[in-house]
This record gives sequence, C-alpha cells and structure tokens, in this order.
Amino acid sequence: SFVPLEDVEVWTPTAGGSKPSYYDRNEKLDQKICVYSGDITKLEIDAIVNAANNSLLGGGGVDGAIHRAAGPLLKKECSSLHGCETGQAKITCGYGLPAKYVIHTVGPIAQGGVGKAEQTALRSCYRNSLIAATDNAARSVAFPCISTGIYGYPPEQAVHQALATVREYLDEHHDKLDRVIFCVFLPKDKELYLQNLPLYFPGP
Ligand code: ADP
Repeated sequence: SFVPLEDVEVWTPTAGGSKPSYYDRNEKLDQKICVYSGDITKLEIDAIVNAANNSLLGGGGVDGAIHRAAGPLLKKECSSLHGCETGQAKITCGYGLPAKYVIHTVGPIAQGGVGKAEQTALRSCYRNSLIAATDNAARSVAFPCISTGIYGYPPEQAVHQALATVREYLDEHHDKLDRVIFCVFLPKDKELYLQNLPLYFPGP
C-alpha cells in the first residue's frame, strides 16, 4: 500500500493565471513540484517532513501517524536528539516507513494570532527542512501543512509561507532536488495549494 514517487503526478502550471504571479516562470522548477492528497506515511520518497513538537517525542496529528508507522526505533533515535527549537529541523532514519529519512521540524504555535515572529518561524521550518534534506543528499522531500493543525496557524496564510520558501530555496538550489511534494490531508488545503501554486510557480 506504499505510494512510489512515480505515481505522484507533477503539478501542471496553469497558463495565464487570474492574478499576476509573484515570481518569474522557471520551467525547470515546475517539473519538480507536486501536490499529493493523502497520508504522508505512505510515500516512497527520500524524506518526509514531520510537524513535530519541541520534545520530538511524538504527539498527535501527523506526528502521531509518522511515529505509529515508523515503529518504536524512531522514538528511540528522537529521544537522543535533545529536542528541537521552533523553526529548526533535525533528521532521523525512517525505520518502518517507506521514506528513507524523517525530517522533524517544529512549527510555531499560532493560536494567539499570526505576527512577524510566527511567519518567520514557519518559513524557517520549510527552509531548514530543505537544508537538512540536501545536506543528506535527499533529492525528494514531502511536506505536510506544518502548524495548520493543532498549532492553529491559519491555512490560508500558511500556504503562502510554504510556497514562497520552497520557491526561494529551489531558485538557489534546483540542482540538489528532484521533487518537492506538498502533501495535503484536508480537502480545504488541496484547494488552497492548487489555487495559490500559480502565484509562485507561474505557467506559460
Ligand atoms: P501542527 O501541530 O504542526 O499543527 P498537525 O499534525 O496537527 O501539526 O497538523 C498538520 C497538518 O497535517 C494538518 O493539515 C493535518 O490535517 C495534517 N495531517 C494529519 N495527519 C496526516 C497524515 N497522516 N499525512 C499527512 N498530513 C496529515
């Protein structure tokens, strides 16, 4: 029941979006972007990102799902890492997962509203996760919608931080990555990603 990377469709940029895009077209990058709707623990990929908490010892949501699927050895390795600061990322093996690595990052808690600090922290999660991936020669990475579950970051704002940070990292390091997958779990998030992708990865 694992999902091989070849089965995840590359997103097709839509020609002439309704709004002016924020970045120039770069066809090389378009071929690296995917939106996958489903369970991140099923992806056969170099690295999946975990929306963890500061303890790195497991929690609810996607974190719980990743630990359940990976098995107890993941928690064992995580407990040797001495936690993780908000906005930082730490990498482990994937153990029972089809993914080779898990990159644990800690998103900001945004229940008190989103300010500059929360925005910066969320961007750091995406950027530091991509750095951890490329530092370990992982060429394909899947992200969940960090902070938009239990941590309360409004998904319609988080999508822009996610897309902008990935676009900027790919602009600088496109040679190091083949695929970046936005793994959406809720229909609302799928809609938000498909709606906003053309602003960051514009079509012809
Ligand atoms: P956070 O604490 O950072 O908000 P959550 O795990 O609560 O993290 O939610 C982050 C996102 O992960 C939410 O959009 C949630 O729907 C999604 N999610 C939950 N389970 C999975 C899964 N198995 N695969 C992918 N995404 C998931």
